[in-house]
Amino acid sequence: MTKLINGKEIAQNLRNQLKREIDNLKNKIGKVPGLAVVQVGNVAASSVYVKAKTKSAKEVGIEVIDHHLKEETSEKELLELVMKLNNQNNVNGILVQLPLPKHINEQIILDSIHPDKDADGFHPLNVGKLSVANNNDENLLIPCTPYGCLVMLKGLDINLQGKNAVVIGRSNIVGKPMAQLLLKESCTVTIAHSKTKNIEKLCKDADIVVAAVGRPEMVKGNWVKNGAVVIDVGINRIEVNIDGENKSKLVGDVDFIEVEKKASAITPVPGGVGPMTIACLLRNTTIAFKNSQKN
Ligand code: NDP
Repeated sequence: MTKLINGKEIAQNLRNQLKREIDNLKNKIGKVPGLAVVQVGNVAASSVYVKAKTKSAKEVGIEVIDHHLKEETSEKELLELVMKLNNQNNVNGILVQLPLPKHINEQIILDSIHPDKDADGFHPLNVGKLSVANNNDENLLIPCTPYGCLVMLKGLDINLQGKNAVVIGRSNIVGKPMAQLLLKESCTVTIAHSKTKNIEKLCKDADIVVAAVGRPEMVKGNWVKNGAVVIDVGINRIEVNIDGENKSKLVGDVDFIEVEKKASAITPVPGGVGPMTIACLLRNTTIAFKNSQKN
């Protein structure tokens, strides 16, 4: 029978574990991790994400330092804020919610976050560390979504070593770090992207498929071999007609109904990878805090 990987439950377990750890740290050293959450403008989806991240952070005992800036904020003003947060002792993690308004260069802002406070794990230094570090380095700040996928894979009763893994998508925030993490687990990794030929065939040979594309229900049942594990990172809103009424619905990059019949384990959308991303952000903040106590 196909196992439905319950991201909500796994994320809750991770948050419970973090809460216990933060309570212990508070009792021991009288301090808790601090996360600065920076939002520029009022993109509706960003506001939803910021609210969810703030709520989850507070629930595990992380102090949230909130900075909601006007849409017209200049790149220079935002850089100045990041510099201030880089030097602020009660801030251990800095999260700048993307996307930023068009007049601000995102990469310049992300690169300006001190690597030790890089809650998203996007800074080039942390990206580099991920590619060279030892397998069991618990101090690394790793991009949250792919790390969440790895936690889900490791929770399955399978040995990852030597497995053929196909990651569809090569973005800096999901595809590439996902491939690095799977390589560290000694999987044989193929990264597919928009110029890849015969993706279906590559997927058919895979024991593990991670889809991070942004194309609704792209991965079909006949792409997947029997017994494969399928992790669906995609979040796509589509219009559907139910009883003559147009409604919107969230779907992943995997055709769930078709692929569920073939896979040994699969993540649903919603309720799969999504909740893990936020839990892993809290994990990174806690790691950054613990690292800061060592210095
Ligand atoms: P990007 O748009 O940055 O990257 C998409 C990748 O998919 C690119 O590498 C692109 O290739 C590749 N691609 C596009 N079309 C095809 C195709 N037809 N065949 C094969 N590859 C293709 O997206 P992200 O990585 O940021 O996000 C991917 C999905 O994951 C989105 O749905 C996003 O909403 C979701 N997401 C979910 C998160 C969560 O918490 N659950 C977090 C982050 C993202 P190329 O490089 O050649 O252009």
